[in-house]
Amino acid sequence: RGLRSEKRRVLLKLSGEVFGGGAIGVNPDVVADVARQIREVADEAEIAIVVGGGNFFRGAELSQRGMERTRADYMGMLGTVMNCLALQDFLEQSGIETRVQAAIPMPQVAEGYIPRRAIRHMEKGRIVIFGAGAGLPFFSTDTVAAQRALEIHADEVLMAKNGVDGVYSSDPRTNPDAEKIDDITYDEALRRGLKVVDATAFSLCMDNKLPMVVFGMEGEGNLGKAIRGERIGTRVTG
Ligand code: UDP
Repeated sequence: RGLRSEKRRVLLKLSGEVFGGGAIGVNPDVVADVARQIREVADEAEIAIVVGGGNFFRGAELSQRGMERTRADYMGMLGTVMNCLALQDFLEQSGIETRVQAAIPMPQVAEGYIPRRAIRHMEKGRIVIFGAGAGLPFFSTDTVAAQRALEIHADEVLMAKNGVDGVYSSDPRTNPDAEKIDDITYDEALRRGLKVVDATAFSLCMDNKLPMVVFGMEGEGNLGKAIRGERIGTRVTG
């Protein structure tokens, strides 16, 4: 992994739901609170963040309602960038230096995605926020989180979820008998079709032996625990 500090390096995935507080658009109060939670642990790890955009648009949903899929996916990617800017703003207000890197060139708004520069930013104590997904239609930001984590040599990818606090034996929102799983392998999660994270992300991590933690955003301190590497949620390995 070359020269690097002793700090853990993590890639945190925040889904769009985190930014909207359950509604469409950005809820500044919610983003401010997320920034505060990250601030509390910012010195303890090198942190990069992949931001989702489901609080604005999901390409698959728009295409079901008549839009051409790839155009709809680009709308989805652009939505993630707005979330990035909101997060950047509140992190910087709390005294943390940040850089946004977007996979679609938009130089007034964000740097381009330059992995080695992203690593350098983290080494200097900055938080790097990745926007616009992979810049490719038909991908999800979960998959991008796995890819970015691999490319920046993160120790773990941390998938923050809303409304669910880990991987369950089936969907806990529809099945009251669903049981939470503390540890699982990628192979088993894929074989059992457990869908809290998309299959492409699981398989990319599996092929490259990158550990994943799936955890719930709800509950004070959860984000900090995940970033510090304390036991939380479900750990997926293998
Ligand atoms: N998207 C895409 N390519 C990417 C990342 C995202 O096309 O590399 C689009 C896709 O339409 C997706 C939307 O952006 O539905 C928002 O991302 P995602 O659904 O992953 O956000 P989240 O569910 O995490 O809020």
